[in-house]
Amino acid sequence: MADIELRNVTKTYPGTASPAVDDLSLAIERGLIVTLLGPSGCGKTTTLRLIAGFERPDAGSVLIGGAEVAGASVWVPPERRGVGMVFQEHALFPHLDVASNVGFNLPRSGRAERVAETLELVGLTGFDRRMPHELSGGQQQRVALARALARRPVVVLFDEPFASLDADLRIHMRSELRRILKAAGTTGVFVSHDQSDALAISDLIVVMRDGRIEQTGSPREIYQFPHTRFVADFVGRTNLFEGRIGRDGSSVETDFGSAPCRHTHDLPPGTPVVVSVRADSFELDAEGPIRGTVKETTYTGRAIDAVVEVTLPDGGKRDVMVHAHPEQVVVCGDTVRFRVLPDFVAVIDEQR
Ligand code: ADP
Ligand code: MG
Repeated sequence: MADIELRNVTKTYPGTASPAVDDLSLAIERGLIVTLLGPSGCGKTTTLRLIAGFERPDAGSVLIGGAEVAGASVWVPPERRGVGMVFQEHALFPHLDVASNVGFNLPRSGRAERVAETLELVGLTGFDRRMPHELSGGQQQRVALARALARRPVVVLFDEPFASLDADLRIHMRSELRRILKAAGTTGVFVSHDQSDALAISDLIVVMRDGRIEQTGSPREIYQFPHTRFVADFVGRTNLFEGRIGRDGSSVETDFGSAPCRHTHDLPPGTPVVVSVRADSFELDAEGPIRGTVKETTYTGRAIDAVVEVTLPDGGKRDVMVHAHPEQVVVCGDTVRFRVLPDFVAVIDEQR
């Protein structure tokens, strides 16, 4: 069952020309972790605020747990929606200790037990009497999450929760938040402009652009099979090539030869298309069909990011971004050969 549903929701702020959220429809299944991903200003926070009840839709309806909470003639205020929220700045009461922050406004009967349970869930047993300023950023975030979860919400909403955390803590908190939400069985909706956060934490990614949904899919689908140039460019670095759907209908012909391709959008053989090949989707190989000269290399520890100038069959040249395994030796000026990994070619649907 869908835990959260937006049906044709539109929201335009007074005095602005275009809608912040534009006829958006989305259904989120119970227990899933979903990230609204997109550039600044694309309407992510507004979508979250519409779910929470901090904004009213101009048109369309919002349903939580199958019940309408916002619509033409329905309005359920935020505190009666069963929605928890964790903000970027954690927003703890500075003068209250951890237990009082988590227990704030909980019914007196059973409060102590519920506080202890949720502190255990977020890994903060024994921190009851600490004050917020005595906690690290990651611990403050856990307290904020415990406070949200203590009320047994249907869904917890997170607006850019990783933005203020440094790189190591961010990676740790991504897996911690995922573990905690899964343990609680709570649906989580995150907002992020950071593709690596979205890929790491989500079951489902909703890529947004100009108040609309550009593509919805699992992290793997979004990364490997972007449907539009916008998604291909926004979610990681990619190479775009012109080509045609192959005669068998399940490959593409490019200047580099033929590559197997599963997602052809059922376009007929011969159709001119643009394909996206991620820098990670090439493999250096002395026997590879593509040949070029290394122009630039960047060693990142996890890979060598190389720019390779490739000579095309017609004599033209173009630069291709290729990621090589960090163990390999890739030196500027070298001639290298490589191939495209099968199935990692995505056809961009230019009709969208
Ligand atoms: P995001 O979270 O993706 O950065 P927002 O939902 O905050 O995007 O904003 C979407 C659009 O709505 C932007 O153009 C933004 O400037 C505008 N906007 C957001 N909040 C307000 C507001 N309170 N009043 C007017 N315009 C707003
Ligand atoms: Mg925002």
